[in-house]
Amino acid sequence: MKPQAVKGTHDILPEDIPAWRQLEQSVRTTLERAGASEIRTPVFEYTETFVKTAGESSDLVVQKEMYTFTDRGERSLTLRPEFTPGLLRAYIQHGMHVRPSPIRLYSIGPIFRAENVQRGRYRQFHQVNLETLGSADALVDAETVALLYDTLTVLGLDNLTVRLGSVGDPEDRAAYNRYLRDTLEPEADRLSETGLERLRLNPMRLLDTKDPSDRALIDPLKRPFDFLNSEAAAHFARVWELLELWNIPHELDTSIVRGLDYYRRTAFEIHHAGIGAQSALCGGGRYDGLVRSLGGPDTPGIGWAFGVERVLDALAEDSPERPALPGPLAFLVPLDAEAVTEVATTARELRRELPVGHAFVSRNPGRGLRDADRSGARYAVLRGTNERENGTFQVKNLQSGEQEDVQEAALTDYLLERTESR
Ligand code: AMP
Repeated sequence: MKPQAVKGTHDILPEDIPAWRQLEQSVRTTLERAGASEIRTPVFEYTETFVKTAGESSDLVVQKEMYTFTDRGERSLTLRPEFTPGLLRAYIQHGMHVRPSPIRLYSIGPIFRAENVQRGRYRQFHQVNLETLGSADALVDAETVALLYDTLTVLGLDNLTVRLGSVGDPEDRAAYNRYLRDTLEPEADRLSETGLERLRLNPMRLLDTKDPSDRALIDPLKRPFDFLNSEAAAHFARVWELLELWNIPHELDTSIVRGLDYYRRTAFEIHHAGIGAQSALCGGGRYDGLVRSLGGPDTPGIGWAFGVERVLDALAEDSPERPALPGPLAFLVPLDAEAVTEVATTARELRRELPVGHAFVSRNPGRGLRDADRSGARYAVLRGTNERENGTFQVKNLQSGEQEDVQEAALTDYLLERTESR
C-alpha cells in the first residue's frame, strides 16, 4: 500500500500552488492597503493561552478539538487551533499597545483542529486572519467587515452575503444565559449529551447545535438579539447603517453566537451560495475584554478569519478554469555528451535573470523538443557540434516554430527581450 497523508490533512501540489499564491498575494495587497501589517507567530503555544482565550465551554475545549501534547520538559503545548490567542499573546508580550492605534495585524498559515473530517472540514487547514486592536468604535466594526468583504470580492468571489448579529455585552449574555437555563432546565432530559454540557457551561452555545432534538427545543426560544441593552443595540444599528451605505449585501442573523466564548457585540459570518453545507467562508467578531483577561491592558479588539481551502473551493465554483502552472522561459537541450555540461553551465548563468530548465542527458532533436514542450517552456535552446563550432545556440520558438542561431554572448539578452511578451 502507498504511504498516506494523515487523515484530514492534504498536500498542496505544484499544480495547486498558482491558485494559492494568487490568493495570498491578492490578500496581502488588499489588507496592506488598509494599513494592516503581517505578524507571524509560532505554530504552537502553551495550551493555557488557547484555553484561557477560547473559554471552558468552547468546542475546542469541550469536544477536545485541540492537538495538545506534553513536551520533554513536561509542558503542555498545543498546535494553534486559531490565530487570535497567539497573536494577542504576542501583542501583550511585545507591548504593542503603545504603537499608534487602532493597530491592524494579519497572519496567513496553517491551523490544526482534531475535528470530524468531512468535505471542506480538515484537521490541518489554512486561515487568513485579521485583528484590529485598540478601538471599540462601531465604525471599526463596519470597516473590518467591509475589508473582509472587499478581500473576498477582489479575489473574484460573487454571491457573498454577510450575516450580521450581535451577542450584546457581558450583562446581556448573562441575562440571556439565565433565560435559557430557566427555560431549558426543566426539559434537560430531552437534550443531547453535548446539549447538556452546553447548558451547563454556556447555554447560548446551544444555538449552534445541529442535533435535531436540541434544535426542536431551542428554535422557538428568544435570541441573544432580543436581550441587547440600548448601547449595544445602537452599536449594532450603526454597523448596519454603514454596511447599507457601502452597499455590502448583509442580512440579520439573530442567532449568531460563534464557536468561542469571548465574543461581545458584533458577530458576523460571510456565506457563499455555491459550496454546500459548509457554506461559511469566514467568521469573526468583537472581543473587548479578551486582551485584559490574558494579562494585557484593557484593549478592545475585533477580528475575523477565513479558511483558505474553503475560499479556493468557492472560487473554483465561481470560475472553474485554473491558472496554468508557469513553465520556464527556455529549456536547454544538449545534443551530444559534451553539451550536457555546457548546457548546465549556461543554465546556471541564465538563471541569474530568467527561469530556465534543461535536460540532464543528451537528446536527439526530436526528443529534446518534446522535453522542452512538456516543461512548458516557450523557447527550446539546442546545443550540439555545429553550434559549438560556430559559438552559437539554436533557439526555437515553440509556439511559432521560428528558429534562429544566437551567439553565445547574446543569449541572455535575446531571451530577456522576449520575457515581456510571456
Ligand atoms: P472559525 O475559526 O471556526 O470561525 O473558522 C473560520 C473559518 O475557517 C471558517 O469559516 C472556515 O472557512 C474555516 N474553517 C474552520 N474550520 C475548518 C476546517 N476544519 N477545515 C477547513 N476550514 C475550516
